[in-house]
Amino acid sequence: MPLLLKDTQIVVASHNEGKVREIRELLTPFGIITLSAKELGLPEPDETEPSFAGNAEIKARSAADLSGLPALSDDSGLAVDALNGEPGIFAARWAEVPKFEGGGRDFDMAMWHVNDRMQGHSDRSARFICALCLAFPRGEAHIYEGKVEGEIIWPPRGNKGFGYDPIFQARGDKITFAEMEPAAKHAKSHRADAFNKFILDALK
Ligand code: IMP
Repeated sequence: MPLLLKDTQIVVASHNEGKVREIRELLTPFGIITLSAKELGLPEPDETEPSFAGNAEIKARSAADLSGLPALSDDSGLAVDALNGEPGIFAARWAEVPKFEGGGRDFDMAMWHVNDRMQGHSDRSARFICALCLAFPRGEAHIYEGKVEGEIIWPPRGNKGFGYDPIFQARGDKITFAEMEPAAKHAKSHRADAFNKFILDALK
């Protein structure tokens, strides 16, 4: 028996619109009905763990317990070898604009920062990593991890994805994630890798 049956309502435990959109696109073909944490007015818990899996579990457990519905979270980021795995779990934080400058997130600035820190390094290798967590209200939590290997390119190219997509080119590709059609990114991304594991365990 799958963990989630067709027509089940689940909360996508994220306030990141890019992620919610991608997760919806990946779940809709399985007949899962998705509500987002933002639509339900759920708070964003503090991500206090040192790992993607730990932070994914914090987000999913919080959304499941508060909503009374199963919740699926995604904690993901970009790990650059020349930067010893940074920005890693701090990928979103590198884009944060200080409150006194208006707040919000600026990924042009974050991408510039990655490239700037890489000056003098010939190794451009990097990977996107994704940990998904499916949590049940006051119940069990399941973790699924995925990754995609690639390299950091400069200058940024494309405007289709989100976050660091314009500077990430998967191994063997000639275009960045931001230049790809969403379906092509979904076929090979870190999120797709984690999703394939989630689908096998939770939906089949
Ligand atoms: P968090 O998991 O919400 O803490 O933030 C993850 C951050 O990693 C996002 O805000 C993006 O900056 C970055 N990220 C994760 N997945 C992707 C992706 O598929 N494309 C581009 N950036 C991503």
